Amino acid sequence: MIDTHCHLLDGSFDNDRKKVIERAFSEGITKIIEISCEPVIWQRSLFLCENHKNIFCAIGIHPNDADKFVDFSNFLTNEKIVAVGECGLDYYRNRIDKETQIAVFEKQLEIAEKFKKPVIIHCRQAEEDAYKILDGHKNIKGVIHCFSSTVEFAEKFLQLGFYIGIDGPVTYPNAKVLREVVKIVPVEKMLLETDSPYLPPQDFRGKRNEPSYIKFIAEKIAEIKNMPVSEISRITADNAKNLFGI
Ligand SMILES: [Zn+2]
Repeated sequence: MIDTHCHLLDGSFDNDRKKVIERAFSEGITKIIEISCEPVIWQRSLFLCENHKNIFCAIGIHPNDADKFVDFSNFLTNEKIVAVGECGLDYYRNRIDKETQIAVFEKQLEIAEKFKKPVIIHCRQAEEDAYKILDGHKNIKGVIHCFSSTVEFAEKFLQLGFYIGIDGPVTYPNAKVLREVVKIVPVEKMLLETDSPYLPPQDFRGKRNEPSYIKFIAEKIAEIKNMPVSEISRITADNAKNLFGI
């Protein structure tokens, strides 16, 4: 299994980061993508992935930090930096005005295009705008991270060639729409993500999430798709290797 989305530099891992990483790799995870979406942690993320053969990194600016944009092009020549993100639009928290969010999103898509990197998209209650913007960049590939929208939008993003990221909420009893989404998205277009330390699977709600819990997401998808967990793990790992070149 590959955890294609976590935030291991979060302060909640400060006391046991090494153990969390060891646990992930001893429990069936083969590769991890660390998402570094705040300028203050870029350098530390680079250090983290340069010191772990199987940890890779995405660099970008989160839409909630769009006012802190600085150009990060210089990082993208490093072979351990495999994507731009997470970037996108967040009209749910709406901490930054829409115009700034859109401008900073566009700038990051241009960087991704220039360096031929996939993008990791954060999109909350902004599907219409995110879709329009991505539709204007037809040669960009990527994933809609922690998909939380409707079946209709899943189909639209699939038509653009995007992967759909499935996270812990798929295990939540009230996540009926998300399970409908999982039914219609081919496993060949899915990526597994924990978004650690956020969004723990059902049994760990209220606690810190960590990459080793990715198996609970794979198990739930296997149940919905009526397929063996080993197949879900293998296919989604192949997807991650293809998209990120890892
Ligand atoms: Zn994230």
